[in-house]
Amino acid sequence: MAGEGADHRPRGVGGRGRVVLFPLPFQGHISPMLQLAGALHARGLAVTVLHTSFNAPDPGRHHHPGLNFVAVPDAVPESVAASSNGLAKILGLNAAMAASGRVRDALASLLRAADEPRLACLVLDSTLTAAQKAAAGLGLPTLVLHTGGAACFRLFRSYAMLHDKGYLPATESNLRAPIEELPPLRVSDLFDPSKLPNKEIGQKILDLATETTTNSSAAILNTFEALEPHELETIRDELVPRGIPAFAVGPLHKLATSSSSSSTGGASAGETSLLSADRSCIEWLDTQAPGSVLYVSFGSVVKVTRDELEEIAWGLAGSGRPFLWVVRRGLVAGAGEELVELPEGFEAAVEGRGKVTEWAPQQEVLAHPAVGGFWTHSGWNSTLESVYEGVPMLSRPIFGDQLATGRYVQDAWRIGVLLEGVLERGEVEKAVRKLLMEEDEGAAEIRERAKGLKEKTRMSLESNGSSQQAVDKLVDHILSL
Ligand code: UDP
Repeated sequence: MAGEGADHRPRGVGGRGRVVLFPLPFQGHISPMLQLAGALHARGLAVTVLHTSFNAPDPGRHHHPGLNFVAVPDAVPESVAASSNGLAKILGLNAAMAASGRVRDALASLLRAADEPRLACLVLDSTLTAAQKAAAGLGLPTLVLHTGGAACFRLFRSYAMLHDKGYLPATESNLRAPIEELPPLRVSDLFDPSKLPNKEIGQKILDLATETTTNSSAAILNTFEALEPHELETIRDELVPRGIPAFAVGPLHKLATSSSSSSTGGASAGETSLLSADRSCIEWLDTQAPGSVLYVSFGSVVKVTRDELEEIAWGLAGSGRPFLWVVRRGLVAGAGEELVELPEGFEAAVEGRGKVTEWAPQQEVLAHPAVGGFWTHSGWNSTLESVYEGVPMLSRPIFGDQLATGRYVQDAWRIGVLLEGVLERGEVEKAVRKLLMEEDEGAAEIRERAKGLKEKTRMSLESNGSSQQAVDKLVDHILSL
């Protein structure tokens, strides 16, 4: 289907210029950046990806045709890497990059390379302020990729307002209060830095993301127009008068491989997972009835307590439904990176009905006809992957932007239910049954809405869809810099 301006053919890769991309080295940030890299390459740009030694891609397993990888061997200082605080790691990485000057050197050498296509800009993760400063010092424009949704982007820019209006700091009595300026959010959905053990770090991360956008030449968002129309409008109302366009190019995990670019021979993003996935999940799903299985995964970072693990396990057992549960190493707080021990008697109780794995091929799992629901921590990538496949969600957000996303799943898009409060096996059982119940009217409506949103997602990725058009405009913008 060819629409106006829908010529996505690579015009001699690199003939149009080069971009350099720099993801934050965590799974949920690496994947969308590499997917964007694939999409830009498919539009004829030469692409270089910078990566740290911390969580570096494994060249043996990561095939990214046409992408050029350059290591900037700044590590998170050992003392910081050992801490379980992900936010501290981000600050540590920025400090290491600023001190070593290696990002600056890598960018300077790309700018100098006379026989290479012209380097137009650096696209960086919104938290990598040190890399933005290095680029600014060399006169290289920067674009910021926001790996969360537009609602989260808007929320993170609203913290001054939330304090001014008295929503924050949150108190026991205002937790349920709706935020009139940001519906359907409530105070309990906010990421409240003052509640963190180290509140300065939380506030700093919010400030970083705001500052990098303000100093950039464009914002790139992994969302699409039909999913967050009002949120995108508000963002543009604020940014466009400052000369910062906002491009909604999501869902990135399907952008580079969707019909238009792959059929014209563009590079796909390839494998973006840092861990190798257990293929036996798919064989197991093949043996299950359509729409019957609950897929359970809390992403790559969040942790649960040992008590919560017990409640999840016995809740799943008690629900009587088939399930595929990702219990990754490091999932249980304070238990190190060992294989997680499941409660005694659990495996026998769910034999033949439950499968546990360390890491699943998630996109394939969500696309499998046997999967009828997804119990997720509401990480943004997981949410988009579920939306794309039309799988209803049981949301159990834990931290940061996940809280707002969980609220949107239940109250804005109405494609799932939110599991709030203390995790308790009886509540888990009820929620799982409700989500997967054939006859339940509420559950049927949720399934219908998820299907409707799936259609809209796919439309945004067609060759004349809003996300493909946004990438065309993004490339024009890059070439105009
Ligand atoms: N993922 C996966 N296999 C698993 C669990 C997760 O491939 O067993 C992938 C998932 O597809 C998603 C990413 O890990 O792309 C998690 O990103 P998300 O933003 O949802 O959460 P985060 O890990 O950043 O908290």
